[in-house]
Amino acid sequence: MKTLASLFLAVALCVPVVIFGSDVRNVVFPEPQKIEISADEGTTSEAAKNLRFCIDASCGNEGYRIEILPEEIVVSHATEAGKFYAEKTLEQLKNHYGNALPLLRIEDAPAMRWRGLHLDVSRHFFSVEEIKKFIDTMAFYKFNRLHFHLTDGPGWRIEIKKYPRLTQIGAWRVDKTDREWNWRETEIPLGGNAETRKLYGGFYTQDEIRELVRFAKERHVVIVPEIEMPGHSFAAMMAYPELACAGNNVPVDGLRGKDMVCVGKPETTQFFIDVLSEFAALFPESPIHVGGDEVWHECWLDCPDCRARMKRENLKSSVELQTVFMRDIIAFLKKQNREIIAWDEIFAGGLSDEHVATMVWREPELGYRAAERGPVILCPGEWLYFDMYQGKPESEPLAIGGFIPLEKVYEFSPFPQDLSEKARKNILGIQANLWTENMTTMAHVEYMLFPRAFALMDIAWHGAPRNYARLLEQIRLQLPNLKARNCNFRPLEK
Ligand SMILES: [Zn+2]
Repeated sequence: MKTLASLFLAVALCVPVVIFGSDVRNVVFPEPQKIEISADEGTTSEAAKNLRFCIDASCGNEGYRIEILPEEIVVSHATEAGKFYAEKTLEQLKNHYGNALPLLRIEDAPAMRWRGLHLDVSRHFFSVEEIKKFIDTMAFYKFNRLHFHLTDGPGWRIEIKKYPRLTQIGAWRVDKTDREWNWRETEIPLGGNAETRKLYGGFYTQDEIRELVRFAKERHVVIVPEIEMPGHSFAAMMAYPELACAGNNVPVDGLRGKDMVCVGKPETTQFFIDVLSEFAALFPESPIHVGGDEVWHECWLDCPDCRARMKRENLKSSVELQTVFMRDIIAFLKKQNREIIAWDEIFAGGLSDEHVATMVWREPELGYRAAERGPVILCPGEWLYFDMYQGKPESEPLAIGGFIPLEKVYEFSPFPQDLSEKARKNILGIQANLWTENMTTMAHVEYMLFPRAFALMDIAWHGAPRNYARLLEQIRLQLPNLKARNCNFRPLEK
């Protein structure tokens, strides 16, 4: 009764007792924007079952309010996403406190709209069930964008009805172990001897993609599909060699890092438009990522079709060939009223505008410049490439290189002080990228993801890194949740 009395007193006086530094602030992750604790004792189990939902437009797009009262819990929200996030917060409170929840009031909403994780399923393939588990864990921590890297040189992972060879051929490769992954040559088997060789790969059927989109939508995660072009196209060119430049013997010349399709031929543009049409139908509400990174433009100078296009369109350099190729792809998607995203290299070619979001993986300064023109998502490699080592290489599983421990992730501040108001508004959010050269299992993906994803989410939810010591305490309190979900992580003490 002491609990009820103090609560009623606080309510009557309209001065909730705010206890900063209390444990409750560390229990829910990401930490809510505001927690007012009205009493220090738990309430009864009846209240946890007695849940009442109210629509309140003031909660905003993804925001919510929770009032845990002695007799009931009142959840206010404006949208289904807000309601879902309130439920996740309650789930975390119940996981920690059981049914004896502390009486409190939470007001919460994210600082950033785009709270993303990227997953490369081309270099290593993960099953539908594994992707669902990944999405479910994302949603538990209020991530809302899965950037699904479906096509790349080492494997094409999505069924395209018009081009069946993309998955019949492009989804499989010879499973070599002769050298470190990034230095092996990808060998996609052609011809009759395929069945005698050990193959690695897989792909998602269109029905499976629809199921993943539905599953993610239920959890307020948008799957953002990416189709790489005009580089990183080895698997596609193996399936359809006519995509390559004239004189390019794809099995020999179309190696990783040199795997640009021919942008001189109109058939190449048509191929990608056909593929994008199927993408657009499969992902009806998603922005579409059209790649555009790491193109070796000089390779086009040897091709008569590419040279002819340069002459026809009066282009001064081979770099401009990428610009005009991407311009046509973007024009097609704009006509379909689709949101479009591309890697920051296309901004260098002058293509970024208010309709194309620039995804910045190189220096953040490129993003701040692009944000003067249009939307930007920041995933700079210096802080947010989770394929890098998080400890000393000799004590870690093989990674791509670099060194991005938890502390380093938490140094990333997305909004510099001198940013203009326009640029600030155009920065949609941040994401971490998981390139899977060395991640052959989902357990390894999870190990690379956690705990670093907590640092990322704290920045995304609050707009800036805050207190590292508190973050560590919050992460410690989340480890039982990860264990209960059978989700792997790198131990904090390692
Ligand atoms: Zn060409």
